[in-house]
Amino acid sequence: MAHRTNLPPTAELQALDAAHHMHPFTHGAGLAEKGARIITSGEGCWLTDSEGHRLLDAMAGLWCVNIGYGRQELVEAAAAQMSELPFYNTFFQTSHVPAIKLAERLASLTPEGLDHVFFASSGSEANDTNLRMVRTYWEMKGEPKRQNVISRWNAYHGSSVGSGSLGGMKGMHAQGGMPIPGIHHIDQPNWWAEGGDMTPEDFGLERARQLEAKIKELGPETVAAFIAEPVQGAGGVIVPPDSYWPEVQRIVDKYGILLIADEVICGFGRTGNWFGSETMGIRPDIMTIAKGLSSGYQPIGGSVVSNEIARVIGGGEFNHGYTYSGHPVACAVALENLRILDEEGIVDRVRDDTGPYLQERFAALTDHPMVGEAKIKGMMGSLALTPDKAARASFAADAGTVGLLCRERCFANDLIMRHVGDRMIVSPPLVISRPEIDTLVERAWKSLDEAMAEAETQGLM
Ligand code: PMP
Repeated sequence: MAHRTNLPPTAELQALDAAHHMHPFTHGAGLAEKGARIITSGEGCWLTDSEGHRLLDAMAGLWCVNIGYGRQELVEAAAAQMSELPFYNTFFQTSHVPAIKLAERLASLTPEGLDHVFFASSGSEANDTNLRMVRTYWEMKGEPKRQNVISRWNAYHGSSVGSGSLGGMKGMHAQGGMPIPGIHHIDQPNWWAEGGDMTPEDFGLERARQLEAKIKELGPETVAAFIAEPVQGAGGVIVPPDSYWPEVQRIVDKYGILLIADEVICGFGRTGNWFGSETMGIRPDIMTIAKGLSSGYQPIGGSVVSNEIARVIGGGEFNHGYTYSGHPVACAVALENLRILDEEGIVDRVRDDTGPYLQERFAALTDHPMVGEAKIKGMMGSLALTPDKAARASFAADAGTVGLLCRERCFANDLIMRHVGDRMIVSPPLVISRPEIDTLVERAWKSLDEAMAEAETQGLM
């Protein structure tokens, strides 16, 4: 593969970056002081930066490069589609072949009864669609009072005003007038941090029953939907206790409330099945998809909706859509990505082979003195860092201080892991091999050692 060899010096790129490029979720002062890491190319699970370091990407970009970097088939699919029809819209009774084919392919992959797709370019946009769609659905069905949507604290559903309001990130709500009205949050099923003396099973039930309490408080006739990630991702890979989802499903069924499963991270093999809803045994009415749909090679997302919702919405006009809803190049690339995921048996491998191997190696990290629990589903996992495992204690510093130390040690050891507070996250490309998993775990252990030494020096343990 051709790599650019004539890059300007890193320091020059960093200075230009800090001077002109505003980054998402990045402190401006820190960026100017340290400079961004500049990634220049990728192959499989490996990235190269502008200094020539080879990094093992245990985050699959941003949880999305499921088939790994450098797949020429996707490049060719994009190029062919660009030559033939680089753009056309899907508004006003027009369509094109890539959008038709991708919608049909998705209908065949998604759980039974979810056979209709509304395209977007991202997870945020798709969740904005969902918010408007569920409210419109109930209006069209003659129940206009059903406008409330229930979500969870520490959920992540996107950064636009609608999706950021659906999310439960307090730091985001504090900026820019969120949440918008009609969105209500219940507590998350994070046993490690919030479970106290309860067993995980009792705690899972308690957290699920908060949904029922919230529905009753608002009035069941006013509630449109509940939205949740099958496994919370950006909130720290919080795998709920086994008791949680069956109870949530019972409650939404009892009150006839729509269930939106946000599959933006969990979808397309991440949890060892095509969708996290299958792994967690839930029956959503809508699934939000993005990221792994194209393995990040093109920006594309969407809402996969039930036949009943499609029927009702299709009975009128839904005044909603994005210029790039069903973008032909993105659809062509997504189709090729789905072909590779399927024909190369990547999802099956995550379920039966490399997933269980990663789970086994990852679980062994709990032998490290600073790791309290290791939670993993398929290939999304997290480690809770703690100075005292038995007490599930926090560090004597702001949440995230030790997590950041650890992430920096990972970077120094050519491993990309992310931290959410004091949880360390992995979500590698689904094509990661056993030897690469060994490298991941060895580098993680070394980084944990170094972070612990630093935390001890700083008196944080
Ligand atoms: N939902 C979930 C569960 C996500 O993890 C994300 C992104 N991390 C989004 C929605 C938003 O997707 P996007 O960044 O593509 O807008």
